[in-house]
Amino acid sequence: MVTAIASEELERRLLVELGSRVRLGGFVYPLLLAAVALQVRIPSDYFWTFWLGALLVFLGAIWRTMAANRAVNANSDWRSIREEIRVSSLLLSALVSFLSSLALAAGPRSDFSHLILFGLISWTALGCNVFAPDLSLAKAFNLVSMIPFVVWCLSVRDSFGWFSALIFGISWLFLWIAAKLANTHLKKMVRTQIQLESQADDLRNARDSAEEASRARTQFLANMSHEIRTPLNGIIGVTDLMLGTELNQEQRELVGIMSQSGNHLLVLVNDLLDLSKINAGKLKIESIEFDLRHLLEETCRPLQLQAESKALGWHLQIRKEVPRTCLGDPVRVRQVLSNLLSNALKFTDHGGVSIDVGMADGQQMRFVVEDTGIGIEAAKLQGIFEEFEQADRSTTRRFGGTGLGLAISKRLVELMGGRIGVQSSVGQGSVFWFELAISGNRS
Ligand code: ADP
Repeated sequence: MVTAIASEELERRLLVELGSRVRLGGFVYPLLLAAVALQVRIPSDYFWTFWLGALLVFLGAIWRTMAANRAVNANSDWRSIREEIRVSSLLLSALVSFLSSLALAAGPRSDFSHLILFGLISWTALGCNVFAPDLSLAKAFNLVSMIPFVVWCLSVRDSFGWFSALIFGISWLFLWIAAKLANTHLKKMVRTQIQLESQADDLRNARDSAEEASRARTQFLANMSHEIRTPLNGIIGVTDLMLGTELNQEQRELVGIMSQSGNHLLVLVNDLLDLSKINAGKLKIESIEFDLRHLLEETCRPLQLQAESKALGWHLQIRKEVPRTCLGDPVRVRQVLSNLLSNALKFTDHGGVSIDVGMADGQQMRFVVEDTGIGIEAAKLQGIFEEFEQADRSTTRRFGGTGLGLAISKRLVELMGGRIGVQSSVGQGSVFWFELAISGNRS
């Protein structure tokens, strides 16, 4: 069934090709006859036959042009259109070759007769090539257009006649082979085109279903994250309340572990929720006025305590050209900064962490987080901002983490119209930076 449909489609497309080739060529036939009539004296005996035939050629050319125009957009009715093109083409060529041989037979033999004869071989050669999409038509045309001339050549019964008939015979054979080769080549091309189109369709369908599956997964993740977050907040709230009550040493330690694990889980769920929102294009970036220095101090306070507990140096520098009030999304700026600073602290055991906030140029604000930690291998740097990308398994085992923080940071920075990057060398530390176009007011 599939092969039948494919071969039908192949035939239909070959007809479209044929239609586009023969659209205007039909009008060459009346012109050819006009040239013959001008040069060869047509005796009064054949006058009406010739001109009636010429009128039929003109009407035939109109018929074929109309059929060819329909063939270019042919769908279900393509077979009948093909028949129309076949019949009109053969009628045209039969009329033209008959009338031309009549003109040759009627007039005295001249150099022009030779010219007509060999001009007609070229015309047949051209026709075989043009009709190549329909091999049956090309073959029939080859015969129909040559037979009247061969008959005329043989009827002359002299060496010119025999020689011309031989040349026609050889040409017929060559043109037959040429039409067959051209047809095979065309069929191959059209088959490849059909295959490519069907592959493109398959790929489009596969892409659509993959997108649909990804949307469903994102939606599911968003719903689940939301559903998990509510009871989790309840658990963390209760453990915090418990920590404020009277507990013995062991109970305090256990509740402390519970609270810490709950907070870890909350960070993870929040990351997943953010990522699914970003992937679904649902995360909105706000544009409100905020105090950047205040935001930096607030973000740094808890992290600075962590740095002190690890005996690490901590340095915050806000350059004087940085405006006090800025216009942007403070929640997201803080989220990116916290991600980078937490990583810097997590991956640093000696030395310290510094933050430098300045202007990259008049428009862009540049945040630089530098640490003296373990650093990242050059080979791993390229994909470090991809989801679930971690420098290596041993780092993950030692430091924990999900590989989402940097991916979220990159997407957030890009949503805010900025860019993010990193330089690092193993054992020496890393420098993470991001630039944002936060418009500000220095007063
Ligand atoms: P997570 O830290 O949760 O694994 P991130 O996306 O924040 O996920 O970081 C991805 C990986 O990049 C980390 O696992 C770590 O290997 C590497 N990395 C990030 N920041 C630093 C840093 N300051 N120093 C060394 N490695 C880092």
